[in-house]
Amino acid sequence: ASLFGAIEMAPRDPILGITEAFNADTNPAKINLGVGVYYDDKGKVPLLQCVQKAEAKLMEQPLPRTYLPIEGLAAYDKAVQELVFGAGSAVIQDKRAITVQAIGGTGALKLGADFLKRFVPGSDVYISDPSWENHRALFESAGFAVHNYAYYDAATHGVNFDGMLAALKAMPRASIVVLHACCHNPTGADLTQDQWTQVIAAVLEGGLVPFLDMAYQGFGAGIDEDGAVVRRFADTGMPFLVSNSFSKSFSLYGERVGALSIVSTSAEESARVLSQLKRVIRTNYSNPPSHAAKAVAMVLSTPELRKLWEEELAGMRVRIREMRSAMVEKLKEKAPGHDFEFVRQQVGMFSYSGLTKEQVGKLREQSIYAVDTGRICVAALNSTNLDRVVDAVAKVL
Ligand code: PMP
Repeated sequence: ASLFGAIEMAPRDPILGITEAFNADTNPAKINLGVGVYYDDKGKVPLLQCVQKAEAKLMEQPLPRTYLPIEGLAAYDKAVQELVFGAGSAVIQDKRAITVQAIGGTGALKLGADFLKRFVPGSDVYISDPSWENHRALFESAGFAVHNYAYYDAATHGVNFDGMLAALKAMPRASIVVLHACCHNPTGADLTQDQWTQVIAAVLEGGLVPFLDMAYQGFGAGIDEDGAVVRRFADTGMPFLVSNSFSKSFSLYGERVGALSIVSTSAEESARVLSQLKRVIRTNYSNPPSHAAKAVAMVLSTPELRKLWEEELAGMRVRIREMRSAMVEKLKEKAPGHDFEFVRQQVGMFSYSGLTKEQVGKLREQSIYAVDTGRICVAALNSTNLDRVVDAVAKVL
């Protein structure tokens, strides 16, 4: 018998499966609302000006491609740390935060998961119900048991906050709780600042281990506003982890640029944490790739490029909000009697539209692709395809 003869076929990735079906569709008017990618109004994935300028500068003085340090490019780690915690923040000044370059947000989560499995092996992991579809598999593959905590309330299209708080309070001490820092994927429903205050209190009280996942900084209310929750956790003095990603905010999906930060209670503890995290990296992929990290570090630390990035990111954020509003207004007209106002309230790239699996199936017959859960990517709507989407949605309601 063959060595691999008994291997069973793994289930298809639900989201990438939609893209496969979309690619196979020959209808020229097909629309893919399934993916988690920002498209501009022309339906293209942008290559940001700030990135192009940084890359051009890098090419003016081509350098040899030597290995980066295990923890990544120093200038990148520093710039990311200042972005995530705020330049001059106490955790940076006291050297209680360490930041390592990671292979995208996914790589940052996996480093954090592997690190936690070594040092808090007895804990379970809690993720929101629902959550980004890779969270569960990622923590399970690191060896953890993964549970859900209440999060989304389909009836209000918002957060079931009482349920969430009760779940946090019921978790055993030292449980690892994964929290979306902003722009919740897949629902688009975020906590208010007042709700965060209560979450932080419950996490402190219960001795939980917070792991903040920030994949969409700048897509909600703004760079600082979206990052505020990280600073609030830092202000408590408790240890926690933060993964962040530049896939969306720099439109650098395929370059795999992200970072993992870990906050400890002293500089001396942080040094030990970093030394162990480096071992996790070393035994996984040795050291990260250099190109995009150099470009991102240059953008973040060069004032005129930084300003350009902030403008370009604001452009993406504003366009998504405009699409939300336009969709709500058009649905008011085309589907009177149905209230879609919640789409305007949701934040970030996604909306849990409330469409059922059956309705999503009917949309697919019209070559419009969404996730079975009803998640649509608002960032894939544009002034050309919006009418067709709204008409199709009105028809399946
Ligand atoms: N966390 C969340 C909540 C995400 O939605 C994603 C995917 N965009 C990631 C992490 C992973 O990001 P990356 O593509 O940079 O690996």
